Amino acid sequence: MNQHILEIHDLKRSYGKKVALDGVSLSVPAGGVFGLLGGNGAGKTTVLRHTLGLLAAQSGSVRVFGLDPVADPVGTLARIGYLSENRDLPDWMRIHQLISYSQAFYPNWDPDYAESLRNLFELDPKAFVRSLSRGQRARAGLLVALAHRPDLLILDEPSSGLDPVVRRDILGAIIRTIADEGRTVLFSSHLLDEVERVADRIAILHQGRIQLCARMDQVLSGHSRVQLRFSSAVSHFPPAGIWIHSEGSGHDWSLVAEAGIENIRAEVARLQAEILSVDPMNLDDIFVARTAGKPLAAGVRA
Ligand code: ATP
Repeated sequence: MNQHILEIHDLKRSYGKKVALDGVSLSVPAGGVFGLLGGNGAGKTTVLRHTLGLLAAQSGSVRVFGLDPVADPVGTLARIGYLSENRDLPDWMRIHQLISYSQAFYPNWDPDYAESLRNLFELDPKAFVRSLSRGQRARAGLLVALAHRPDLLILDEPSSGLDPVVRRDILGAIIRTIADEGRTVLFSSHLLDEVERVADRIAILHQGRIQLCARMDQVLSGHSRVQLRFSSAVSHFPPAGIWIHSEGSGHDWSLVAEAGIENIRAEVARLQAEILSVDPMNLDDIFVARTAGKPLAAGVRA
């Protein structure tokens, strides 16, 4: 049995001369919450659009539930709920029409769940989609994505436009419930505290390349900030080996290590330096360390 809901292998995509994805490989296991992180233009939406079969691979491959989403849209899309970045919804419909229209596409549509989501999101059934605020539109889009209880829920920047209460309490709870039911959530975001709170696994995408793909606990426990003092001044300390980021000059340097404490101690001894401190890092700092400056070599671990 295929334990991966999504498998992407060496996916490349250019828009004209612009390289959006430069050999992305990614495996999303079944069950749990997978956060796809990246700054503006990193390639997140392009990955999600390939997953939905909205873009065909120029090279490389994409498999969702073991199927090619471009060749078999019926087999894949029926099992996917999708909230697009632009919250594309038919403007001319009222909310109750949007609900019945969406229901027609999905045999598994759960009308009671749809109604409870409509109440939770405080959406007036008579309101026209075109009259909704940005946040209300995001809520309506979420309702449509959720109410057929998809095996894979894909959310492109789900927090965008949502107020803090909906974002933190309601969206967070929905995402966790889906994961607890054994289904899979794949979402893109650049809100790192939110990702740290809800995701079990993450991938960091930077300039069309995967910089890191691992379980959240491994990411957090696997990175440390190390303050070092060299006995002789050092003019240049390029990141290499366990060191993935460096800042400083002369005797004192602040480094980011991707290694356990024993390896850090051994490396520092080899450098004939002194450790001033070793501190844990949050996802925000890890993200900056992994994406600052030039693209790093791909470091896929999971
Ligand atoms: P954001 O967080 O800003 O939405 P993203 O990580 O989702 O960004 P993408 O939308 O996938 O990034 O874009 C990746 C790159 O491809 C960007 O440089 C973008 O300008 C470019 N790109 C995306 N779609 C198109 C398109 N239809 N035509 C030309 N270039 C595009």
